[in-house]
Amino acid sequence: ETELMEKRRALLGPNVSTFYQRPVHIVKGEDVWLWDADGRRYLDCYNNVPHVGHCNPRVVEAICSQSGQLNVHSRYLHENLVNYIEKLTSTYGGELSNALLTCTGSEANDIALRMAEAMTGKRGVIATDATYHGNTSLVSQLSTGNAPTYGYGLDQYVRHVEAPDSLRIEDPQGLRFAAKVQEQIDEHERSGIGFAALIVCPLFLNEGFPDQAPGWLRPTEQVVRKAGGFLICDEVQSGFARSGSHFWAHQKQGVAPDVVTMGKPMGNGYPVAGLVTRPEVMERFRNSYRYFNTFGGNPVACAAAMAVLEEIEQRQLQANAAKIGALAAKALNKLSIKYGVIGDVRQSGMVFGVEFLKDKATQEPASGFADQVVEAMRERGVLLSKLGRHKNTLKIRPPMTFSEEHLGLLVQTLDEVLAELAPQS
Ligand code: PMP
Repeated sequence: ETELMEKRRALLGPNVSTFYQRPVHIVKGEDVWLWDADGRRYLDCYNNVPHVGHCNPRVVEAICSQSGQLNVHSRYLHENLVNYIEKLTSTYGGELSNALLTCTGSEANDIALRMAEAMTGKRGVIATDATYHGNTSLVSQLSTGNAPTYGYGLDQYVRHVEAPDSLRIEDPQGLRFAAKVQEQIDEHERSGIGFAALIVCPLFLNEGFPDQAPGWLRPTEQVVRKAGGFLICDEVQSGFARSGSHFWAHQKQGVAPDVVTMGKPMGNGYPVAGLVTRPEVMERFRNSYRYFNTFGGNPVACAAAMAVLEEIEQRQLQANAAKIGALAAKALNKLSIKYGVIGDVRQSGMVFGVEFLKDKATQEPASGFADQVVEAMRERGVLLSKLGRHKNTLKIRPPMTFSEEHLGLLVQTLDEVLAELAPQS
Protein backbone atom coordinates (compact mmCIF):
# COMPACT_ATOMS: atom_id res chain seq x y z
CA GLU A 1 0.00 0.00 0.00
CA THR A 2 2.72 2.47 0.94
CA GLU A 3 4.50 1.86 -2.35
CA LEU A 4 1.31 2.41 -4.34
CA MET A 5 0.55 5.56 -2.37
CA GLU A 6 4.02 6.96 -2.98
CA LYS A 7 3.86 6.19 -6.68
CA ARG A 8 0.45 7.82 -6.89
CA ARG A 9 1.68 10.94 -5.15
CA ALA A 10 4.75 11.13 -7.37
CA LEU A 11 2.83 10.61 -10.61
CA LEU A 12 -0.46 12.38 -9.95
CA GLY A 13 0.67 15.21 -7.73
CA PRO A 14 -1.42 16.38 -4.83
CA ASN A 15 -4.77 16.91 -6.55
CA VAL A 16 -6.36 13.49 -6.38
CA SER A 17 -6.89 12.80 -2.70
CA THR A 18 -7.85 9.47 -1.13
CA PHE A 19 -10.32 8.54 1.59
CA TYR A 20 -9.11 7.50 5.05
CA GLN A 21 -5.85 7.88 6.93
CA ARG A 22 -5.00 4.38 5.74
CA PRO A 23 -6.29 4.45 2.15
CA VAL A 24 -8.01 1.27 1.02
CA HIS A 25 -6.54 -0.58 -1.97
CA ILE A 26 -9.60 -2.11 -3.59
CA VAL A 27 -9.15 -4.81 -6.21
CA LYS A 28 -12.62 -6.32 -6.60
CA GLY A 29 -16.26 -5.42 -6.12
CA GLU A 30 -19.54 -7.33 -6.07
CA ASP A 31 -22.91 -5.85 -5.19
CA VAL A 32 -22.40 -4.01 -1.85
CA TRP A 33 -19.04 -5.67 -1.16
CA LEU A 34 -15.48 -4.61 -1.90
CA TRP A 35 -12.27 -6.60 -1.45
CA ASP A 36 -8.82 -5.19 -0.84
CA ALA A 37 -5.53 -6.58 -2.13
CA ASP A 38 -5.13 -8.70 1.02
CA GLY A 39 -8.50 -10.34 0.46
CA ARG A 40 -10.27 -8.41 3.20
CA ARG A 41 -13.96 -7.71 2.61
CA TYR A 42 -15.60 -4.30 3.16
CA LEU A 43 -19.27 -3.35 3.27
CA ASP A 44 -19.67 -0.35 0.97
CA CYS A 45 -22.13 2.05 2.58
CA TYR A 46 -21.00 5.19 0.81
CA ASN A 47 -20.81 4.66 -2.89
CA ASN A 48 -23.59 6.06 -5.03
CA VAL A 49 -21.77 5.43 -8.28
CA PRO A 50 -22.39 1.64 -8.31
CA HIS A 51 -26.08 2.44 -7.89
CA VAL A 52 -27.33 -1.05 -8.72
CA GLY A 53 -24.39 -2.79 -7.07
CA HIS A 54 -20.70 -3.14 -7.89
CA CYS A 55 -20.10 -5.05 -11.11
CA ASN A 56 -23.82 -5.53 -11.61
CA PRO A 57 -24.05 -8.46 -14.07
CA ARG A 58 -26.70 -6.83 -16.29
CA VAL A 59 -24.66 -3.62 -16.61
CA VAL A 60 -21.41 -5.52 -17.19
CA GLU A 61 -23.05 -7.61 -19.90
CA ALA A 62 -24.56 -4.51 -21.55
CA ILE A 63 -21.19 -2.73 -21.61
CA CYS A 64 -19.28 -5.76 -22.84
CA SER A 65 -21.63 -6.73 -25.61
CA GLN A 66 -22.03 -3.17 -26.93
CA SER A 67 -18.25 -2.61 -26.72
CA GLY A 68 -17.76 -5.70 -28.87
CA GLN A 69 -20.22 -4.38 -31.43
CA LEU A 70 -19.60 -0.64 -31.78
CA ASN A 71 -18.60 2.42 -29.80
CA VAL A 72 -18.50 5.81 -31.46
CA HIS A 73 -19.59 9.44 -30.91
CA SER A 74 -23.21 10.49 -31.30
CA ARG A 75 -23.15 11.93 -34.83
CA TYR A 76 -24.31 8.71 -36.42
CA LEU A 77 -27.76 7.28 -36.02
CA HIS A 78 -27.96 4.72 -33.26
CA GLU A 79 -31.00 3.28 -31.52
CA ASN A 80 -29.32 3.08 -28.10
CA LEU A 81 -29.36 6.88 -27.76
CA VAL A 82 -33.01 7.41 -28.65
CA ASN A 83 -34.21 4.29 -26.81
CA TYR A 84 -32.43 5.41 -23.68
CA ILE A 85 -33.68 9.00 -23.83
CA GLU A 86 -37.21 7.72 -24.46
CA LYS A 87 -37.05 5.58 -21.34
CA LEU A 88 -35.28 8.24 -19.27
CA THR A 89 -37.75 11.02 -20.09
CA SER A 90 -40.68 8.68 -19.35
CA THR A 91 -39.56 8.73 -15.70
CA TYR A 92 -40.12 12.51 -15.63
CA GLY A 93 -43.49 12.84 -17.31
CA GLY A 94 -44.83 16.23 -18.24
CA GLU A 95 -42.81 18.83 -20.04
CA LEU A 96 -39.26 17.57 -19.47
CA SER A 97 -39.25 15.56 -22.67
CA ASN A 98 -35.86 16.42 -24.18
CA ALA A 99 -32.46 15.26 -22.94
CA LEU A 100 -28.82 15.95 -23.67
CA LEU A 101 -26.16 13.46 -22.58
CA THR A 102 -22.70 14.36 -21.29
CA CYS A 103 -19.92 12.47 -19.50
CA THR A 104 -20.01 14.25 -16.13
CA GLY A 105 -22.42 16.02 -13.83
CA SER A 106 -20.22 19.10 -14.00
CA GLU A 107 -20.77 19.42 -17.74
CA ALA A 108 -24.51 18.95 -17.29
CA ASN A 109 -24.65 21.78 -14.72
CA ASP A 110 -22.50 23.97 -16.95
CA ILE A 111 -24.98 23.52 -19.80
CA ALA A 112 -27.95 24.09 -17.46
CA LEU A 113 -26.54 27.49 -16.49
CA ARG A 114 -25.98 28.40 -20.10
CA MET A 115 -29.56 27.37 -20.90
CA ALA A 116 -30.78 29.65 -18.12
CA GLU A 117 -28.77 32.47 -19.64
CA ALA A 118 -30.06 31.74 -23.13
CA MET A 119 -33.68 31.72 -21.91
CA THR A 120 -33.60 34.70 -19.53
CA GLY A 121 -30.95 36.87 -21.17
CA LYS A 122 -29.40 37.25 -17.71
CA ARG A 123 -26.45 35.69 -15.93
CA GLY A 124 -26.89 35.88 -12.16
CA VAL A 125 -26.97 32.52 -10.42
CA ILE A 126 -27.88 31.58 -6.85
CA ALA A 127 -26.68 28.47 -4.97
CA THR A 128 -26.44 27.52 -1.30
CA ASP A 129 -23.33 28.31 0.70
CA ALA A 130 -22.50 24.68 1.54
CA THR A 131 -22.76 22.73 -1.67
CA TYR A 132 -20.88 21.29 -4.62
CA HIS A 133 -22.06 21.29 -8.21
CA GLY A 134 -18.94 20.36 -10.15
CA ASN A 135 -15.54 21.34 -11.42
CA THR A 136 -15.72 23.41 -14.62
CA SER A 137 -14.61 27.05 -14.39
CA LEU A 138 -18.23 28.08 -14.36
CA VAL A 139 -19.78 25.63 -11.92
CA SER A 140 -16.82 25.54 -9.54
CA GLN A 141 -17.81 29.13 -8.69
CA LEU A 142 -21.01 27.76 -7.19
CA SER A 143 -19.21 25.66 -4.60
CA THR A 144 -18.16 27.45 -1.46
CA GLY A 145 -16.45 24.33 -0.09
CA ASN A 146 -13.63 24.55 -2.59
CA ALA A 147 -13.82 28.18 -3.52
CA PRO A 148 -11.48 28.85 -6.41
CA THR A 149 -8.98 31.65 -6.12
CA TYR A 150 -8.81 32.04 -9.87
CA GLY A 151 -11.99 31.77 -11.83
CA TYR A 152 -12.09 34.07 -14.81
CA GLY A 153 -13.98 36.58 -12.65
CA LEU A 154 -17.13 34.49 -12.91
CA ASP A 155 -17.71 34.77 -9.19
CA GLN A 156 -19.47 38.11 -9.65
CA TYR A 157 -22.32 36.17 -11.27
CA VAL A 158 -22.82 33.87 -8.28
CA ARG A 159 -24.56 34.76 -5.02
CA HIS A 160 -25.03 32.34 -2.13
CA VAL A 161 -27.90 31.74 0.28
CA GLU A 162 -27.51 30.12 3.65
CA ALA A 163 -28.06 26.37 3.32
CA PRO A 164 -31.00 24.89 5.23
CA ASP A 165 -30.18 23.25 8.56
CA SER A 166 -33.07 21.55 10.33
CA LEU A 167 -31.26 21.56 13.70
CA ARG A 168 -30.21 25.19 13.86
CA ILE A 169 -32.51 27.12 11.55
CA GLU A 170 -36.25 27.28 12.20
CA ASP A 171 -37.85 27.05 8.78
CA PRO A 172 -40.53 24.32 8.76
CA GLN A 173 -42.22 25.45 5.55
CA GLY A 174 -39.24 26.80 3.64
CA LEU A 175 -40.49 30.39 3.86
CA ARG A 176 -37.27 31.71 5.34
CA PHE A 177 -35.20 30.06 2.62
CA ALA A 178 -37.51 31.53 -0.03
CA ALA A 179 -37.08 34.99 1.50
CA LYS A 180 -33.27 34.58 1.46
CA VAL A 181 -33.41 33.60 -2.21
CA GLN A 182 -35.56 36.68 -2.88
CA GLU A 183 -32.92 38.89 -1.22
CA GLN A 184 -30.22 37.52 -3.50
CA ILE A 185 -32.45 37.86 -6.56
CA ASP A 186 -32.88 41.51 -5.63
CA GLU A 187 -29.10 41.89 -5.26
CA HIS A 188 -28.55 40.39 -8.71
CA GLU A 189 -31.11 42.73 -10.22
CA ARG A 190 -29.67 45.74 -8.38
CA SER A 191 -26.15 44.98 -9.62
CA GLY A 192 -27.31 45.03 -13.21
CA ILE A 193 -26.28 41.39 -13.79
CA GLY A 194 -29.87 40.22 -13.43
CA PHE A 195 -31.20 36.94 -12.09
CA ALA A 196 -30.99 33.89 -14.32
CA ALA A 197 -31.23 30.78 -12.13
CA LEU A 198 -31.33 29.09 -8.77
CA ILE A 199 -29.51 25.75 -8.69
CA VAL A 200 -30.18 23.33 -5.83
CA CYS A 201 -30.07 19.67 -4.96
CA PRO A 202 -33.71 18.97 -3.99
CA LEU A 203 -32.62 16.97 -0.92
CA PHE A 204 -29.69 19.27 -0.06
CA LEU A 205 -27.50 16.19 0.17
CA ASN A 206 -24.13 17.96 0.19
CA GLU A 207 -25.45 20.38 2.80
CA GLY A 208 -26.15 17.58 5.29
CA PHE A 209 -29.62 16.51 4.05
CA PRO A 210 -31.78 18.45 6.53
CA ASP A 211 -35.27 17.19 7.35
CA GLN A 212 -37.86 18.89 5.23
CA ALA A 213 -41.61 18.57 4.91
CA PRO A 214 -42.83 17.61 1.44
CA GLY A 215 -43.24 20.76 -0.62
CA TRP A 216 -40.54 22.62 1.32
CA LEU A 217 -39.08 24.07 -1.88
CA ARG A 218 -42.43 25.29 -3.22
CA PRO A 219 -42.30 28.82 -1.78
CA THR A 220 -38.79 29.14 -3.24
CA GLU A 221 -40.01 27.95 -6.61
CA GLN A 222 -42.68 30.67 -6.57
CA VAL A 223 -40.09 33.34 -5.81
CA VAL A 224 -37.90 32.14 -8.68
CA ARG A 225 -40.85 32.05 -11.09
CA LYS A 226 -42.05 35.50 -10.12
CA ALA A 227 -38.60 36.88 -10.90
CA GLY A 228 -38.66 35.16 -14.29
CA GLY A 229 -35.70 32.91 -13.39
CA PHE A 230 -34.88 29.28 -14.00
CA LEU A 231 -35.10 26.53 -11.41
CA ILE A 232 -32.31 24.01 -11.94
CA CYS A 233 -32.48 20.87 -9.83
CA ASP A 234 -29.14 19.10 -9.55
CA GLU A 235 -30.13 15.45 -9.09
CA VAL A 236 -26.63 14.08 -9.54
CA GLN A 237 -26.88 12.56 -6.06
CA SER A 238 -30.58 12.58 -5.29
CA GLY A 239 -31.89 11.03 -8.48
CA PHE A 240 -32.63 7.57 -9.87
CA ALA A 241 -35.05 6.57 -7.07
CA ARG A 242 -32.67 7.13 -4.17
CA SER A 243 -35.26 9.10 -2.22
CA GLY A 244 -37.41 5.97 -2.08
CA SER A 245 -40.70 7.82 -2.38
CA HIS A 246 -40.08 9.19 -5.87
CA PHE A 247 -37.88 8.46 -8.84
CA TRP A 248 -36.67 12.09 -8.81
CA ALA A 249 -36.29 14.04 -5.59
CA HIS A 250 -37.80 17.24 -7.01
CA GLN A 251 -41.04 15.24 -7.36
CA LYS A 252 -40.90 14.69 -3.61
CA GLN A 253 -40.55 18.46 -3.20
CA GLY A 254 -43.51 18.97 -5.50
CA VAL A 255 -41.67 21.44 -7.72
CA ALA A 256 -41.40 21.64 -11.50
CA PRO A 257 -37.81 22.54 -12.46
CA ASP A 258 -36.90 23.96 -15.85
CA VAL A 259 -33.83 21.74 -16.05
CA VAL A 260 -32.84 18.63 -14.11
CA THR A 261 -29.23 17.52 -14.21
CA MET A 262 -28.02 14.01 -13.39
CA GLY A 263 -24.88 11.91 -13.40
CA LYS A 264 -22.99 9.72 -10.96
CA PRO A 265 -25.28 6.65 -10.62
CA MET A 266 -26.52 6.91 -14.19
CA GLY A 267 -24.15 4.37 -15.77
CA ASN A 268 -23.17 2.49 -12.59
CA GLY A 269 -19.58 3.64 -13.09
CA TYR A 270 -19.49 4.04 -16.85
CA PRO A 271 -19.16 7.82 -17.41
CA VAL A 272 -22.56 9.06 -18.49
CA ALA A 273 -24.46 12.11 -17.27
CA GLY A 274 -26.88 14.62 -18.71
CA LEU A 275 -29.90 16.81 -18.33
CA VAL A 276 -33.56 16.98 -19.24
CA THR A 277 -35.55 20.07 -20.10
CA ARG A 278 -38.44 21.34 -22.19
CA PRO A 279 -38.11 21.28 -26.00
CA GLU A 280 -38.23 25.08 -26.28
CA VAL A 281 -35.25 25.40 -23.91
CA MET A 282 -33.28 22.93 -26.00
CA GLU A 283 -34.22 24.91 -29.09
CA ARG A 284 -33.09 28.23 -27.60
CA PHE A 285 -29.84 26.70 -26.36
CA ARG A 286 -29.16 25.43 -29.86
CA ASN A 287 -29.67 28.92 -31.25
CA SER A 288 -27.34 30.48 -28.66
CA TYR A 289 -24.57 27.90 -28.49
CA ARG A 290 -23.07 25.22 -30.67
CA TYR A 291 -22.68 22.21 -28.42
CA PHE A 292 -21.09 18.86 -29.10
CA ASN A 293 -19.82 16.26 -26.69
CA THR A 294 -17.59 13.61 -28.25
CA PHE A 295 -18.12 10.84 -25.71
CA GLY A 296 -21.51 11.88 -24.33
CA GLY A 297 -24.31 9.42 -25.05
CA ASN A 298 -22.17 7.01 -27.05
CA PRO A 299 -23.68 3.56 -27.69
CA VAL A 300 -21.84 1.93 -24.77
CA ALA A 301 -22.80 4.73 -22.36
CA CYS A 302 -26.43 4.36 -23.38
CA ALA A 303 -26.31 0.57 -23.04
CA ALA A 304 -24.91 0.89 -19.51
CA ALA A 305 -27.44 3.57 -18.56
CA MET A 306 -30.34 1.55 -19.98
CA ALA A 307 -29.26 -1.48 -17.95
CA VAL A 308 -29.28 0.68 -14.80
CA LEU A 309 -32.86 1.82 -15.44
CA GLU A 310 -33.92 -1.78 -16.11
CA GLU A 311 -32.33 -2.97 -12.88
CA ILE A 312 -34.03 -0.28 -10.81
CA GLU A 313 -37.35 -1.17 -12.39
CA GLN A 314 -37.16 -4.95 -12.41
CA ARG A 315 -35.68 -5.38 -8.96
CA GLN A 316 -37.96 -2.70 -7.49
CA LEU A 317 -35.05 -0.82 -6.03
CA GLN A 318 -37.09 2.31 -5.37
CA ALA A 319 -39.31 0.32 -3.00
CA ASN A 320 -36.17 -1.21 -1.48
CA ALA A 321 -34.77 2.27 -0.84
CA ALA A 322 -37.98 3.28 0.94
CA LYS A 323 -38.06 0.10 3.03
CA ILE A 324 -34.39 -0.05 4.02
CA GLY A 325 -34.25 3.71 4.61
CA ALA A 326 -37.15 3.52 7.06
CA LEU A 327 -35.53 0.58 8.89
CA ALA A 328 -32.23 2.46 9.01
CA ALA A 329 -33.87 5.52 10.57
CA LYS A 330 -35.48 3.29 13.19
CA ALA A 331 -32.19 1.59 14.04
CA LEU A 332 -30.25 4.86 14.18
CA ASN A 333 -32.90 6.40 16.42
CA LYS A 334 -32.43 3.44 18.77
CA LEU A 335 -28.68 4.12 18.84
CA SER A 336 -29.35 7.79 19.55
CA ILE A 337 -31.07 6.83 22.80
CA LYS A 338 -28.00 4.87 23.80
CA TYR A 339 -25.38 7.43 22.76
CA GLY A 340 -25.81 11.10 23.71
CA VAL A 341 -23.32 12.14 21.03
CA ILE A 342 -25.95 11.43 18.36
CA GLY A 343 -27.77 14.74 18.16
CA ASP A 344 -30.05 14.03 15.25
CA VAL A 345 -31.00 11.21 12.90
CA ARG A 346 -31.87 11.99 9.30
CA GLN A 347 -33.02 9.89 6.41
CA SER A 348 -34.47 10.21 2.97
CA GLY A 349 -34.81 6.81 1.31
CA MET A 350 -31.43 5.21 0.78
CA VAL A 351 -29.52 8.17 2.25
CA PHE A 352 -29.29 8.28 5.98
CA GLY A 353 -27.03 9.46 8.72
CA VAL A 354 -26.62 10.97 12.12
CA GLU A 355 -25.36 14.34 13.23
CA PHE A 356 -22.89 14.25 16.13
CA LEU A 357 -23.12 16.96 18.76
CA LYS A 358 -20.85 17.80 21.68
CA ASP A 359 -23.83 19.15 23.54
CA LYS A 360 -27.48 18.80 22.59
CA ALA A 361 -28.46 21.96 24.48
CA THR A 362 -26.04 24.26 22.65
CA GLN A 363 -25.99 22.10 19.50
CA GLU A 364 -22.25 22.50 19.31
CA PRO A 365 -21.12 20.19 16.50
CA ALA A 366 -18.75 17.31 17.31
CA SER A 367 -16.82 17.72 14.06
CA GLY A 368 -13.66 15.78 14.80
CA PHE A 369 -15.73 12.97 16.25
CA ALA A 370 -17.33 12.16 12.90
CA ASP A 371 -13.83 11.71 11.47
CA GLN A 372 -12.91 9.32 14.26
CA VAL A 373 -16.05 7.27 13.63
CA VAL A 374 -15.41 7.12 9.87
CA GLU A 375 -11.84 5.88 10.46
CA ALA A 376 -12.89 3.34 13.09
CA MET A 377 -15.64 1.99 10.82
CA ARG A 378 -13.12 1.59 8.02
CA GLU A 379 -10.83 -0.39 10.34
CA ARG A 380 -13.80 -2.67 11.06
CA GLY A 381 -14.59 -3.11 7.36
CA VAL A 382 -17.48 -0.70 6.85
CA LEU A 383 -16.98 2.21 4.45
CA LEU A 384 -18.89 5.46 4.94
CA SER A 385 -18.14 9.17 5.12
CA LYS A 386 -19.08 12.46 6.69
CA LEU A 387 -20.31 15.81 5.40
CA GLY A 388 -22.30 18.92 6.18
CA ARG A 389 -21.36 22.47 7.03
CA HIS A 390 -19.78 21.35 10.31
CA LYS A 391 -18.42 18.07 8.93
CA ASN A 392 -20.20 16.33 11.80
CA THR A 393 -22.83 14.32 9.93
CA LEU A 394 -22.28 10.71 8.91
CA LYS A 395 -23.28 10.25 5.32
CA ILE A 396 -24.46 6.75 4.59
CA ARG A 397 -25.48 6.24 1.01
CA PRO A 398 -25.04 2.64 -0.08
CA PRO A 399 -25.87 1.03 -3.41
CA MET A 400 -29.64 0.69 -3.87
CA THR A 401 -29.38 -3.09 -3.45
CA PHE A 402 -28.52 -2.68 0.24
CA SER A 403 -30.56 -5.22 2.24
CA GLU A 404 -31.81 -5.69 5.78
CA GLU A 405 -28.91 -8.02 6.46
CA HIS A 406 -26.39 -5.42 5.27
CA LEU A 407 -28.11 -2.79 7.39
CA GLY A 408 -27.84 -5.09 10.41
CA LEU A 409 -24.08 -5.36 9.97
CA LEU A 410 -23.71 -1.60 9.50
CA VAL A 411 -25.70 -0.77 12.65
CA GLN A 412 -23.98 -3.43 14.74
CA THR A 413 -20.56 -2.10 13.69
CA LEU A 414 -21.58 1.48 14.40
CA ASP A 415 -22.83 0.40 17.82
CA GLU A 416 -19.43 -1.20 18.55
CA VAL A 417 -17.53 1.87 17.36
CA LEU A 418 -19.66 4.28 19.38
CA ALA A 419 -19.32 2.07 22.46
CA GLU A 420 -15.57 2.43 22.09
CA LEU A 421 -15.41 6.13 21.21
CA ALA A 422 -18.35 7.71 23.03
CA PRO A 423 -19.48 7.51 26.60
CA GLN A 424 -23.02 6.11 26.85
CA SER A 425 -25.69 8.52 27.98
N1 PMP B 1 -23.51 17.88 -8.57
C1 PMP B 1 -23.50 17.23 -7.39
C2 PMP B 1 -24.64 17.41 -6.44
C3 PMP B 1 -22.43 16.38 -7.07
O1 PMP B 1 -22.42 15.74 -5.90
C4 PMP B 1 -21.38 16.22 -8.00
C5 PMP B 1 -20.21 15.29 -7.74
N2 PMP B 1 -19.91 15.03 -6.43
C6 PMP B 1 -21.43 16.93 -9.20
C7 PMP B 1 -22.52 17.73 -9.46
C8 PMP B 1 -20.34 16.84 -10.22
O2 PMP B 1 -20.40 15.65 -10.91
P1 PMP B 1 -19.11 15.11 -11.70
O3 PMP B 1 -18.08 14.78 -10.69
O4 PMP B 1 -19.63 13.93 -12.47
O5 PMP B 1 -18.68 16.20 -12.61
